[in-house]
Amino acid sequence: MFDVIIIGSGPAGISAALYTRRAGLNTLVIGRDSGSLAKAGAIENYYGFSEPVSGNDLINSGIAAVKRLGVEVISDEVVGLQWNGNLFVRTKTLTLEAVCVIIATGTTRNTPKIEGLTEFEGRGVSYCSTCDGFFFRGKDVCVLGEGSYALSEVQELLPIAKSVTLVTNGLTPAVSVPDEVAVNTKKILSVSGTSAVEEMVFEDGTTLKTDGVFVAVGVAGSTDLAKKVGAQVAGTKIVVDENMETNIPGLYAAGDCTAGMLQIAKAVYEGAKAGTEAIKFVRKYAAQSEKTNQG
Ligand SMILES: Cc1cc2nc3c(=O)[nH]c(=O)nc-3n(C[C@H](O)[C@H](O)[C@H](O)COP(=O)(O)OP(=O)(O)OC[C@H]3O[C@@H](n4cnc5c(N)ncnc54)[C@H](O)[C@@H]3O)c2cc1C
Repeated sequence: MFDVIIIGSGPAGISAALYTRRAGLNTLVIGRDSGSLAKAGAIENYYGFSEPVSGNDLINSGIAAVKRLGVEVISDEVVGLQWNGNLFVRTKTLTLEAVCVIIATGTTRNTPKIEGLTEFEGRGVSYCSTCDGFFFRGKDVCVLGEGSYALSEVQELLPIAKSVTLVTNGLTPAVSVPDEVAVNTKKILSVSGTSAVEEMVFEDGTTLKTDGVFVAVGVAGSTDLAKKVGAQVAGTKIVVDENMETNIPGLYAAGDCTAGMLQIAKAVYEGAKAGTEAIKFVRKYAAQSEKTNQG
């Protein structure tokens, strides 16, 4: 078991890792790519550089710094999060346990622009199979997506729903699905119904009857992961207190995935704060475990 797993290897995640590792915590950082900083060609408003620095240079030196301190940094995609007292992080290939998790996955949320999708949110359109799958037991549902995250949602829904169809909206599936899952690659025109979702309408005029649409396009965004363990979200942001802690004990969030400025300085501060609070949490947890073992 890790003391701390940090999801995201951008400024927020790496800043958190600097603190947790230097406090001696067993820290793992999981990042799937270089995040939004990679798109920043020249940065002039971050402390300590006499000349503009590229986003990629900042990312690479940040990752090198934590590796030098002994942090394990792996390249993988997180597709799920669970909580039962301890936290479990599920990647494409691994399930890992941690006392604390820091979500630092930046700001993306992949909501495709499809007519009806926003309108039917909560009335058949869901962004979380763990949260809402139960409401669709014995029903026909679709998962909208094409990659590992969509596959993970499909796998969660299969034991619950009557049927699960993967709908890729014109994309080529990047994963192979279980035999019982139908794959529909047509471009979607709209999601429609009366009081709740009833069907998907495709650009070629055909339709697919469905009771639910689970949106899992691309990579699991920060709020997708937070919702899986019941952490509070507001729109596209994870709700945290002044210590960067969510309403789930041991789960923190930092950087662009929380409300406020989308800036490196803010991400680095919040990472540092989340890391510092995670250290206190892990130490309290260790002390309690020791007491329990002695008693
Ligand atoms: C074009 C552009 C220019 C910018 N210029 C500036 C500037 O000049 N100054 C400034 O201060 N800020 C600038 N920013 C903003 C800055 O890049 C962000 O505020 C900062 O990178 C936020 O850091 P973060 O760690 O929260 O998120 P990010 O840097 O986005 O990092 C997110 C991390 O999470 C990982 N991740 C996401 N989902 C998953 C998943 N499911 N599994 C595993 N890993 C995952 C990503 O791979 C990445 O490692 C710019 C942004 C852009 C797009």
